Amino acid sequence: MSTQAVGNEGIEQLLRAEADLHAPASLVAQARLQDYEAEYRRSVEDPEGFWAEIAQELEWFQPWQKVFDWNYPLFEWFQGATCNITHNCLDRQVKAGRKNKVAYIWTTEDGTERQITYGQLLDFVSRTANALRSIGVSKGDRVIIYMPVMLEGIVCMLACARIGAVHSVVYAGFSVQALRSRIEDAQARVILTADVSYRRGKRVGLRSIVQEAISGLEAIDQVVVLRRAQPALELDLHETDFYELVNKQSADCPAAIMDAEDPLYILYTSGTTGKPKGVVHVHGGYMVGIYYHMTRFWDIRDDDVFLCTSDIGWAVGHSYIVYAPLLAGATTLFREGAIDFPHPAIVWELIERYRASVIFTAPTAVRMFMRYGDQLPQGYNLRSIRLFTCAGEPLNPEAMLWAHRVLCGNGQWGFVADNWWQTETGGPCLGTLPVFAARPSKAGKALPGVVAEVVDAQGNKLPPNKGGLLVLRRPFPHMYRAVYGDPDRYAEDWRKIPNAYSTGDVAICDDDGYFTVVGRADDVLNVAGHRIGTADVEGALVSHPAVAEAAAIGRPDEIKGENIKAFVMLRVGHTASPELELKLKEHVRNVLGAIAVPAEIGFPEKLPKTRSGKIMRRLLKAQELGKEIGDVSTLEE
Ligand code: AMP
Repeated sequence: MSTQAVGNEGIEQLLRAEADLHAPASLVAQARLQDYEAEYRRSVEDPEGFWAEIAQELEWFQPWQKVFDWNYPLFEWFQGATCNITHNCLDRQVKAGRKNKVAYIWTTEDGTERQITYGQLLDFVSRTANALRSIGVSKGDRVIIYMPVMLEGIVCMLACARIGAVHSVVYAGFSVQALRSRIEDAQARVILTADVSYRRGKRVGLRSIVQEAISGLEAIDQVVVLRRAQPALELDLHETDFYELVNKQSADCPAAIMDAEDPLYILYTSGTTGKPKGVVHVHGGYMVGIYYHMTRFWDIRDDDVFLCTSDIGWAVGHSYIVYAPLLAGATTLFREGAIDFPHPAIVWELIERYRASVIFTAPTAVRMFMRYGDQLPQGYNLRSIRLFTCAGEPLNPEAMLWAHRVLCGNGQWGFVADNWWQTETGGPCLGTLPVFAARPSKAGKALPGVVAEVVDAQGNKLPPNKGGLLVLRRPFPHMYRAVYGDPDRYAEDWRKIPNAYSTGDVAICDDDGYFTVVGRADDVLNVAGHRIGTADVEGALVSHPAVAEAAAIGRPDEIKGENIKAFVMLRVGHTASPELELKLKEHVRNVLGAIAVPAEIGFPEKLPKTRSGKIMRRLLKAQELGKEIGDVSTLEE
């Protein structure tokens, strides 16, 4: 057939058909979610019936009177119901015969391995919950958890939830100021931490960061420290040893009766202002939604080993290391440390050793694995992999095709599934299911319960293949309920575009309903799958005495997706130099943490600004990348 005869559309079809990736037939045949179209239709035509049916798979202390109540922009799910997510994570599993099933396998860079069963986890969480009560923590109190990726970190989260306290986990790679602002915003009185974490064979001091972060904060009256390093460090008067406190408690702590809408946790993420955005999730709806995706999207079975490479400090870690795998009764493998340390094949070694079958990782990790070449993974038996899933940033086609070819045996045994979501959505919204083909560069279709659209700035739906803003038209049960202490900021998310939640992302939807998520529309960067506000980086830079003004932009990066370039105007009396650049980088590391350190800092004479005085990051970015500058009519003369 000549190209002429096929026409443009035909060529696209052909190219696409060739590029589509299909799941192995056996995987499709076994998938719990067989009829995506019917399931999706039902979820949007009768959301209440749909979610109520899912909710019935879990246990409630009191059933709901009303499934859904929407008072725009506020909404509630399972009104009048009482429950406790930990009852469903632990007690329910023990009752169902999983007492001796391994809940977690935890490994470290030095090869330590610890396993804990559902029965043991229930006891450990109960003791820790009683320990929290013994130091005065009660329902509704906020507790900061600043812990490495380890069992005790998970136990602390579950222990808070057990007694109705609201945890706020701060990623243990964040430094003093990021931690302090989160403690202050949540008005916490208690901090749970460890003396050190380990990464790339090195000790990273956490307790010292906590000490600096709380200096002068009168509200903090307890710091509980898990001591790992030898010799054990001496504790101050206001500090308590984790195990001394926990071991003396009873292992009997019935789950507190929570209203379905009671807060479960606050998780801070970056927004467009310097102040972290405290995203609030609740016990009831969050439990139902993440359970649904764990059992349908990740399709977890009793004999699966689920490997999640995230950190408990991120949204993925909250939902898919901690809560959802337990709700589904899974065995989860997770690890402290760098994913390629002590050697670059450690992940393949672990997959082979534990026969991990469902993997959840990030595109940045896949790109790094790719760089080490095909031979490394090919030296291991990876045939246990059924689903290889990624989220956090765009999964570029090269990385997707590589994972398909090398990790999934060219689709012989496994399937690569992208999924898009955010801290605010609690779980995936767009994704690729084995029952339909995966399309490289596309995150997938709207998952059940999600009404996603690409719109213009006024909120008008755009036709297929036109880029615009990605919005969600209605809330599902696991959508966040509030921005902690800031109702206006929450409302703003639902008002920027009329009748929709603005995700802040730019996307394109094709004729078949597949979405490509291109990146952020606002001043938020995505570095290695982590949201960092330009305002956070700029705030850290201007807190240095040499800096008068700063602007930060994202540049494409082969491994990290984006890296940060900062532009700094110095105060009078300071001169630009490579030494100062190093000092400023070190300063950002101390204030915010390593993930926010700019790859490069420039020292221009002047920063481009609008007439109203706003820094034009768009212009800086265009200049940096040698692209069209676009509309600069509001630029200051
Ligand atoms: P966070 O709230 O930190 O989980 O970051 C969420 C942001 O990460 C989203 O708004 C997107 O910009 C980006 N993101 C997450 N998953 C994907 C994906 N599968 N494809 C493209 N971008 C993604």
